[in-house]
Amino acid sequence: MNKVLITGGAGFIGSHVVRLFVNKYSDYEIYNLDALTYAGNLENITDLESKPNYHFIKGDITNESFIEDFFQKHQFDAVIHLAAESHVDRSISDPLAFAKTNILGTMILLNAFKKLWQDNWSNKLFYHVSTDEVYGTLGETGLFTETTSYDPNSPYSASKASSDHFVRSYGETYGMPFVISNCSNNYGANQFPEKLIPLFINNIINNKSLPVYGDGKYTRDWLFVNDHASAIDLVFHKGKNKQTYNIGGFNEWQNIDLIKLLCSQMDEKLEREKGESEELITYVKDRPGHDLRYAIDATKINKELGWKPSVTFEEGLSKTIDWYLKNQVWLNNIINGEYQNYYNKQYNLTS
Ligand code: NAD
Repeated sequence: MNKVLITGGAGFIGSHVVRLFVNKYSDYEIYNLDALTYAGNLENITDLESKPNYHFIKGDITNESFIEDFFQKHQFDAVIHLAAESHVDRSISDPLAFAKTNILGTMILLNAFKKLWQDNWSNKLFYHVSTDEVYGTLGETGLFTETTSYDPNSPYSASKASSDHFVRSYGETYGMPFVISNCSNNYGANQFPEKLIPLFINNIINNKSLPVYGDGKYTRDWLFVNDHASAIDLVFHKGKNKQTYNIGGFNEWQNIDLIKLLCSQMDEKLEREKGESEELITYVKDRPGHDLRYAIDATKINKELGWKPSVTFEEGLSKTIDWYLKNQVWLNNIINGEYQNYYNKQYNLTS
């Protein structure tokens, strides 16, 4: 499999996956297809622009005729599909946009891939990168395993659950080889600053309040994004056909404890008084359909593929803060919208 299409490679996780594949597999041709929505940022991957095995294409997975022509032209052996609308809060205000990109867009990719290889699936693979949010919510105990029933609560998780089902159905109905992974919350470099950790780092730098939903007791499992990328690499190469792999950090945190840890690391790094950043915490009204707790049982990927996270949360968080402190131009370019001009500048376009 040497012609690999990665969708959503200008986004947060996709940029780390594209980088890993381009650098590690010089004999692969890596195509990064991304519509460059508000969440796509070519400044995430400037280091790859000169690599001979890397190609960026701006394009929308919901554009059926474009996707069909694109697949016919390049004859991809494999697809690693990450492009999505990914922010739960946005899914609450605009659920249709999530159905369009996450469900319809995935089906359009599946159809184009099927059309190419349905007579001979040998050495072909469709990999869908999904989320643990498809499983719904847990009480105070228990873990999501690969056999937990789907029970999504937000339009975002419902759209991801639906696209998982379509991927599986193409495997059963048309014999398409596939793998799916369902991962917990990621954090790390290049995350769009509407998500909790980069948002709060930026707010602390600027002495702005830190809005905490409800009582702050929501619990999530957190994984360093580079560890997610290495898990994707393993599942892609060694995962078994038609299997699902749960990926998680064995690392559960209540939001409020995570925020306090972040505040204390930020105080140290910014040489502020101990406790100064915590004073910025402000409790705000909860969002609807808020899942109480997610926790992943990642035993299967650990036992079958030998994967485990490479850093502790404290180490990963510290590296993440250092990255944002060093890359304040990147952060400011997003906040003032300048990053959206990068594509035109890079490709000498006028509009
Ligand atoms: P992101 O929002 O940072 O990036 C999504 C990328 O997809 C962007 O570059 C965007 O431009 C692109 N995109 C959106 N709509 C498109 C379209 N119609 N056509 C082509 N490209 C389009 O998202 P992320 O956080 O990097 O998540 C990537 C994938 O991983 C998603 O499928 C998400 O569901 C999944 N996931 C994310 C997390 C997490 O914690 N962020 C956890 C588990 C799974």
